[in-house]
Amino acid sequence: MNQTLKWITTMKKECPTCTGSGTISCKCNDNNEIACPNCGGKGVVTRRATTTQKKEMPCDHPQCQQGKVSCGVCNGTGRTAKGEPCPSCKGKGTVTCPVCGGLGRIQRSTQESWLEHETCHICNGRGMVDCYLCHGTKERVCPTCKGKGTVLDQGKIVLLVALALLLLAVPVLFVAVAGITLGGCLFLLWKEQQSRKEEQAISDQSEPTDEDTI
Ligand SMILES: [Zn+2]
Ligand SMILES: [Zn+2]
Ligand SMILES: [Zn+2]
Ligand SMILES: [Zn+2]
Ligand SMILES: [Zn+2]
Repeated sequence: MNQTLKWITTMKKECPTCTGSGTISCKCNDNNEIACPNCGGKGVVTRRATTTQKKEMPCDHPQCQQGKVSCGVCNGTGRTAKGEPCPSCKGKGTVTCPVCGGLGRIQRSTQESWLEHETCHICNGRGMVDCYLCHGTKERVCPTCKGKGTVLDQGKIVLLVALALLLLAVPVLFVAVAGITLGGCLFLLWKEQQSRKEEQAISDQSEPTDEDTI
């Protein structure tokens, strides 16, 4: 019983990475160097560089001529059907181009991007740095347990949670069964009483009871 209690209350188990010692041997080389974490040992880092350039180009409205387009109301004639000056273009037959706003040119921004290779500033291009994990001792703190030697036993916690949920569910189940049974019994009793009342009524209507006949 004591052991069961101890098993339930200890949520930790020995760290599998370091087998409880809290340290593991470092993988750095004989010069106490390790691959640079910034460049992954390549000595160079690549980054994407982008520039935005503004280019001026002729207006791409198909009808635009020096910033003017043919008036859509009068079809470029400058006159209405009655021969009066078109109110939209004031008789000119052309209106300001809606695309370029009358400039005849538009600005387009184009984006260019390329990869830039730079020497890694952490290792100065060597790809290796002095081991920062063990500082030359060849023994580093275990990354799994952070040196504590124990880790949370997740499988056990999940198991215990499931067990606790089951235990919590049992009384609920009992209450439900009790409720259904009680309801059923009361219904049966009520039905029994109903039928007895009916019998009573029938026998009251029928011929006089035995007592009267005697
Ligand atoms: Zn580097
Ligand atoms: Zn017009
Ligand atoms: Zn235009
Ligand atoms: Zn090391
Ligand atoms: Zn560990």
